[in-house]
Amino acid sequence: MSDSSPRRLYRTILLFGAPGSGKGTQGKIIGTIPGFYHSATGDIFRSLDLQSEMGRKFQEYAGRGELVPDEFTIRLWRQYIQGMELINQFRPTTEFLVLDGLPRNPTQAHLLEDIIEVSAIIYLRAEKAKMVERLRRRALKENRFDDASDVVINKRMDVFEKETRPVLDIYPKKLVTRIDATLSQIRVLGEIVKVLTPLKETMDREYEGHP
Ligand code: ADP
Repeated sequence: MSDSSPRRLYRTILLFGAPGSGKGTQGKIIGTIPGFYHSATGDIFRSLDLQSEMGRKFQEYAGRGELVPDEFTIRLWRQYIQGMELINQFRPTTEFLVLDGLPRNPTQAHLLEDIIEVSAIIYLRAEKAKMVERLRRRALKENRFDDASDVVINKRMDVFEKETRPVLDIYPKKLVTRIDATLSQIRVLGEIVKVLTPLKETMDREYEGHP
């Protein structure tokens, strides 16, 4: 695409919720449905070489349960997603971007304004104790260094409350669907699919009209 042509915004579904709410689990499943591309910032960070400058920065912040600085996060993510678009892994004309773990504060939401258009926000909710219990289990299963201590887990929960939750106020309320994250995985998935189905059908009709 040349610089002068208007850039279409990525049509985007935000998966929103505290650590341990199940965003990653659901995001991975949704990403297997044709027409949806799942992108998790945490996974992108974890794929960095930990010896590199970027990798060390991630480890430093995530190890304390803090957010990685905004400019750095957004720059890295933009490079990543544009790379995926270039190699045709992500096809924005026929696919929704399913964003998991981004934006994580209002500054990030503003920095993304010129690249994403939010079509829906899926907010997975559960009591804090339930999510903490899941993170403790995940620490054992997935060897996540940032799940290993209760101090870091609590810090991430605080960061969600103070920094991430205000992101919801930025977008129109009608975009937000709240889902009980303690339901069975298949039921949570069913509730998400109910939101996504009409959006995808609309996208398909638009595409057929303008191939
Ligand atoms: P969880 O949702 O369980 O906290 P993630 O894999 O989404 O797990 O994130 C792990 C860590 O990666 C975060 O604690 C944070 O340090 C970093 N991170 C992920 N996404 C972002 C983001 N959008 N902005 C800044 N830091 C991020």
